[in-house]
Amino acid sequence: MNSVELWESISATREAVRRARYSGQRIGFVPTMGALHDGHAALIRAARASTDFVVVSIFVNPTQFGPKEDFSKYPRTLEADQAICQQAGANGIYLPSVTEMYPERSVSVVEVTQLDQVLCGPSRPGHFRGVCTVVAKLFNIVLPDVALFGQKDAQQCRIIQQMVRDLNFPVTIQIEPTVREADGLAMSSRNRYLSAEERAVAPRIYQALQKVQDRVAWGERDVARLESELQQELASLPGARLDYARILDNESLTMVAIVERPCLVAVAVFLGTTRLIDNLTIPGFGPAP
Ligand code: AMP
Repeated sequence: MNSVELWESISATREAVRRARYSGQRIGFVPTMGALHDGHAALIRAARASTDFVVVSIFVNPTQFGPKEDFSKYPRTLEADQAICQQAGANGIYLPSVTEMYPERSVSVVEVTQLDQVLCGPSRPGHFRGVCTVVAKLFNIVLPDVALFGQKDAQQCRIIQQMVRDLNFPVTIQIEPTVREADGLAMSSRNRYLSAEERAVAPRIYQALQKVQDRVAWGERDVARLESELQQELASLPGARLDYARILDNESLTMVAIVERPCLVAVAVFLGTTRLIDNLTIPGFGPAP
């Protein structure tokens, strides 16, 4: 197995990608914040299957964290990350520095409007502007043919897809399913913050989402009723504080009254100080006869 290259500058990254492209290889790209787990590994493996030369970026992006969020204590585990990248088949890791990504006089940002007004947007002001800006910069540095993102961050997926469409980025966005622990908890770098008690409660978030899915399968279509049941269920979990639990149109992320077109059921819950998000999609049923 070849060892994974490590690039710490924009120029080194561009040079390695240029060489791969000149030899006819298609470039796959997986942007991450590190503290890699099996969810990230699945994205890297999927990139390997779709392309020939896979770049992973590891960058804890300061502009997507709020002042009271966990930027400084976000886990940084480079050695373990390198091993995971290697095993999953990445060719290189780009490790941007904050100073090269955000030189002192940089004042340009990328903002996708409307889609950032719901779900995580209001709870995390400026978060998606930080995400879009860094992803746009990374796309311009790596110039990938395909970039892969996890459905775990469903709103981020929709926003990046929209940014790529609106701003004509020459990249295909590939979305991969959420990878879960055996008990259903969505894998997340933040799961390591959970106490033993919180970890025991955490799988009930996904169970609550599945209950919505079951209710719809049994014929319930009323979104207000489904949402209120879901909110009550999550708010009653021991040690939990509900941020949001919403059922929205899966494409436009706008409100819907009945489950008709495909919907996104998305939740954010604090267990102690750790904010966990999860979601699932419900297929559409077409208009009522
Ligand atoms: P992060 O390092 O949390 O910024 O995530 C980097 C990428 O991995 C994003 O596209 C995430 O959606 C994706 N990701 C994170 N957790 C999972 C998971 N459990 N399953 C699939 N993809 C994931």
